[in-house]
Amino acid sequence: MDLKVFITTHETTCSECGEDLGRHAWILLAGERGALCLACADLDHLLFLPPGDAALTRRANQHSTLSAVVLKWSRARKRYERQGLLVEAQALEQAEKECLADADARQRRQERDAQRRAILDAEYVARFARQVRELYPGCPEDRETEIAEHACLKYSRRVGRSATAKDLEEDAIRLAVIAHVRHAETSYDQLLADGCERQEARFQVVVTLDQVLERWEKQG
Ligand SMILES: [Zn+2]
Repeated sequence: MDLKVFITTHETTCSECGEDLGRHAWILLAGERGALCLACADLDHLLFLPPGDAALTRRANQHSTLSAVVLKWSRARKRYERQGLLVEAQALEQAEKECLADADARQRRQERDAQRRAILDAEYVARFARQVRELYPGCPEDRETEIAEHACLKYSRRVGRSATAKDLEEDAIRLAVIAHVRHAETSYDQLLADGCERQEARFQVVVTLDQVLERWEKQG
């Protein structure tokens, strides 16, 4: 089952967090609950893969537990057109490894890494990572950096939120860790990929989630 993410053509507000998403927002339509921003839809850890390399797209899609097709309404053609795919970072990485013979893929990856680094505020990430490690001493090696980078990218995308996010309140750290554990350590993404409703998926993984958090909170 393909999840569909739409690029809107009109002013949109997220029905969950209430964020004003502007005119060209990326949203998930969640039935009666309306439009969700990618953060509320738990899809904001996915990377956008534009079209142009069929082999890379096919492999990335294969390796990605959770993926979504990005669609945009074409006024001229009066239909939704595919803009690309949202895939997991490690799926894209693996697909790129497999396409490594292709020098273009390597170059695109370097460009993407450079872009990502430009957005990341190194000091903020380091501070965030340190606090993750303090709160969760049993967290696997290097995972605190992964969590911190994602949190930093997320807040940098949300203009106006960055100021409060940078206060690094314990709640922000805990929420970032919970979101990460759900994606990385439970079957949550698989459930979403299978079409399970988000609340139901969260409910199904809550025991595993708590077990992992409890383990991480203990000294490693
Ligand atoms: Zn939202």
